[in-house]
Amino acid sequence: MKQENFSSSGLTDLYGRHIHYIRLSLTDRCNFRCVYCMPRHGTTFIPHEQILSFEELLRLCRLTASIGITHYKITGGEALCRQGSLAFIEKLTKIAGVEQVTLTTNGALLPQSLSSLAAAGIRSINVSLDALSPQVFSRITRSNVAIEDILLVLEQAKKMGMQIKINTVPIQNYNHTELVPLARYALANDFPLRYIELMPIGEGKQFLGIPLEQVKKLMEQTFGKLEPYRARLGNGPARYFQPPGYSTPIGYIAALSDTFCKNCNRVRLTSWGFFKTCLHHDIGTDMKGLLRKSASDVEILSAIIQTINKKPFAHTFNQPVQEVPSDLAMHSVGG
Ligand code: SAM
Repeated sequence: MKQENFSSSGLTDLYGRHIHYIRLSLTDRCNFRCVYCMPRHGTTFIPHEQILSFEELLRLCRLTASIGITHYKITGGEALCRQGSLAFIEKLTKIAGVEQVTLTTNGALLPQSLSSLAAAGIRSINVSLDALSPQVFSRITRSNVAIEDILLVLEQAKKMGMQIKINTVPIQNYNHTELVPLARYALANDFPLRYIELMPIGEGKQFLGIPLEQVKKLMEQTFGKLEPYRARLGNGPARYFQPPGYSTPIGYIAALSDTFCKNCNRVRLTSWGFFKTCLHHDIGTDMKGLLRKSASDVEILSAIIQTINKKPFAHTFNQPVQEVPSDLAMHSVGG
């Protein structure tokens, strides 16, 4: 097998980026219908037999871990909606070479999952929370989940020693009034909060995000001048700042206005088994096809390495002529 870009310290792509992080989508289904993510009545979901089985996923994880992918983020859709996800996560944490498994969730199923997640070794959870007010929360998520229950389980998670990060997408005419209350809540609880720029993907194309510069100004008006946060936090592209008097940072993930692709460390595996090198571009390999054609481990490893070699230098969301696949949707790829 040709493995020039693989050494004992892991994988490096053609642009010298160290690739050690994978986002694994367990399902394209979700129990929320966030206005900017999924249509109200759902969509055409991928048939169950087209979704990778947990055995197939674990095989791919063993192989990726064997060549230096050390960090695994479980996502979806809503991963906790898939039956068997907790048992899968537990097995994943035990694979040799897997150093960290974390989860991103909307929190709705955390009350019944938290102790199993802790027992499986999960120490860090990202929770997507776009509002604290019950009215705004239900307007955005179009769910009848009680926000109070989510806040309660986050308190429990904190007591159990879990690291919680909050992800918020600021959307014009939806949650502008929520941004300061969310920041106050996050700072009071020592949960780093990250404001994520709305991307023109799927349903997101129909909404206007609140520019992050504007959000930053709002934070400075509220808390005082934000200083860059010096410590390293997480594995992702957030830029963190510290409000005076607080030890918890506020972060910004500006996928569009602040292209951070040159430091990108990640690849993705969609729930239907597409090994994807970039959220934006459809450059990747159909791993399900290989797995179901009884490919050997060597063949699969070779495909993974060749795919990483094709990872594009940057997304092109900002370019006027888009080559974004029109069916690209966050819940389906794994946001
Ligand atoms: N259900 C899980 C959760 O809520 O974290 C994981 C999947 S969800 C698609 C992951 C994240 O993608 C959420 O934080 C959501 O707000 C974000 N998201 C969805 N559509 C987006 C878009 N068009 N632009 C930016 N973020 C988006």
